[in-house]
Amino acid sequence: IAPLSQVALEGRFARELPEMAVAWRADEAPDPRLLVLDDTLATELGLDPTWLRSPQGVQLLVGNGVPSGATPVAQAYAGHQFGGFVPRLGDGRALLLGELVGVDGRLRDLHLKGSGRTPFARGGDGLAAVGPMLRELVVARAMHGLGIPTTRSLAVVATGRPVRRETLLPGAVLARVASSHLRVGSFQYARATGDVDLLRRLADHATGRHHPAAAEAENPALALLEAVVGAQASLVARWMLVGFVHGVMNTDNMTISGETIDYGPCAFMDAFDPATVYSSIDVGGRYAYGNQPVVAEWNLARLAEALLPLVHDVPEQAVELAVEALGRFRPRYAAAWAAGMRAKLGLGDAVDDATLTPLVDELLTLLQVSHVDHTSFFRALGTAARGDAEPARGLFLDLAGFDRWAERWRALAPDAGSMDRVNPVYVPRNHLVEEALAAATDGDLAPLERLVEVVAAPYDERPGLERYAAPAPQDFGAYTTFC
Ligand code: AMP
Ligand code: MG
Ligand code: MG
Repeated sequence: IAPLSQVALEGRFARELPEMAVAWRADEAPDPRLLVLDDTLATELGLDPTWLRSPQGVQLLVGNGVPSGATPVAQAYAGHQFGGFVPRLGDGRALLLGELVGVDGRLRDLHLKGSGRTPFARGGDGLAAVGPMLRELVVARAMHGLGIPTTRSLAVVATGRPVRRETLLPGAVLARVASSHLRVGSFQYARATGDVDLLRRLADHATGRHHPAAAEAENPALALLEAVVGAQASLVARWMLVGFVHGVMNTDNMTISGETIDYGPCAFMDAFDPATVYSSIDVGGRYAYGNQPVVAEWNLARLAEALLPLVHDVPEQAVELAVEALGRFRPRYAAAWAAGMRAKLGLGDAVDDATLTPLVDELLTLLQVSHVDHTSFFRALGTAARGDAEPARGLFLDLAGFDRWAERWRALAPDAGSMDRVNPVYVPRNHLVEEALAAATDGDLAPLERLVEVVAAPYDERPGLERYAAPAPQDFGAYTTFC
């Protein structure tokens, strides 16, 4: 079993971008207790799960122990929060321990969240409660299972330190793994310093880690922007296709890698409605389900602004080039969405966009009007393609409307063969997440472990899991999430 000293962490971010890294240590957790560990992820990282479960491993996962040679840092970033620019955000309650080379040779960040106040903490306590950290763990696991790019949760460790929220709650640290924690807000921070050399080093660092082909382009900064535009267009289309509502798409919560990050007040939509908002703080509905593509595009415009000095020496030309790059978002998004919808409906490439678009639009209207459960509907449509339309039909109030739509859909000869591989049967439904987090907060981890196991394989229907596939009971009521 490897001692802590053998966990080899690199310090590339801290070394290459010292202006954006503040060396810091986690607060000592008084009584660390491992709640959940992702053994598969540990193994992918070249870490021994048995060792991670040992007292020394848990010290690493909670921040009490730092591998020799590692320099944990709080990362500086800026960000637009609900549209308002904040020049200095940064990791207020998180630390980048360093980067780790996985068994696949890829570099990944190992990061702690809830590890105590840092110089970026502003008014915050630097802490996290068990519930929200387990929420991030279960939703990130579901996203990974769905095949959607995401940061991943290696472990949640209870600290033994209470956290004051509305009540006193048990505290926890989440150990998170990401291909990096570079955000749109990282570029906004570098740009706001006025130091173009720093901005260039950040762009080079990001390009090397995430979009290496851009380094070979004639205009590498512009190619980086185009690559991020493409990655985010594809990511947000994936969210939309599974009904995921991120909840807080501030520019500091949008990655350069194209991975989903910062699972705060996120949720999977139950009944289909573009206006769906779960977050208690999103009173204006800025980050509603249906707004996500346009918000992503808005955030990318902020990235483009930050990159302008690297794009061209002549400001007008820089703007012109950046606007052109941003113009690629809509077609990229539309193509990813259409391809995804085609697959969800079991339709092949032979069905052209002119046929697909009105068919999808009409379906979405029907789903909205009849308050149909998004996940249940698409899964049931696979059954309809196999000849039994009743499970799907039974979800509608407007039966005649569904029948008319289904007739047009069936005329296009949907192929049931692949539908179940793109329409999940299990997502972390809100009522199940709440039930699991409440039990975990009271000390019973069994419902959470079960839920994680179920959503980790979202496309494979298994006997005995009917309650995980069913919509929320009527009395669950309106759902609100908190950061
Ligand atoms: P988020 O809404 O989680 O993306 O966080 C936005 C900013 O607030 C980031 O700079 C976080 O580090 C900071 N933050 C959030 N919660 C806390 C907390 N409890 N203590 C200190 N900083 C926090
Ligand atoms: Mg954040
Ligand atoms: Mg957060």
